[in-house]
Amino acid sequence: MSETVTKKLMLFFPRCECEKPIIYHLVKDYNLVVNVYRAKVTPEEEGYLVLDVTGVEEDIEQALAFVKTFNVSINYSGKGVTRDENSCTHCGHCVTHCPTGALRIDDKMTREVIYSEADCIECMACIGVCPFDALASAF
Ligand code: SF4
Ligand code: SF4
Repeated sequence: MSETVTKKLMLFFPRCECEKPIIYHLVKDYNLVVNVYRAKVTPEEEGYLVLDVTGVEEDIEQALAFVKTFNVSINYSGKGVTRDENSCTHCGHCVTHCPTGALRIDDKMTREVIYSEADCIECMACIGVCPFDALASAF
């Protein structure tokens, strides 16, 4: 018997895909237990979902392949906070606002500002403090 695993994901639904019963199929056709943490539909009717899926690895892989056929983007970190790497100037302003060190400077010579999604707890403290609007949240 295969071991069950849990994966946290963020799904981004383009406007035309919002109506499709994708979660229903994940449960019914791929035997997954789905736990939705957050859901949002923007004024443009794009949809974001942050969820856990629990099931055997093979079922999860097949389910994600199915999800991708709907032109849905999958963020495997499951985080709603993103940094636009093209807009970030590494000014360092956000670093002091981040309580977990997800935004940090590891190399004192280059002063490059790292964004570690794994360390982000989505507290939103950094959203709005970036002078270059490089940090954004789906929620
Ligand atoms: S405040 Fe904005 S531009 Fe400055 S380091 Fe942070 S994300 Fe980059
Ligand atoms: S949302 Fe909070 S934890 Fe995540 S990067 Fe921003 S300040 Fe840090």
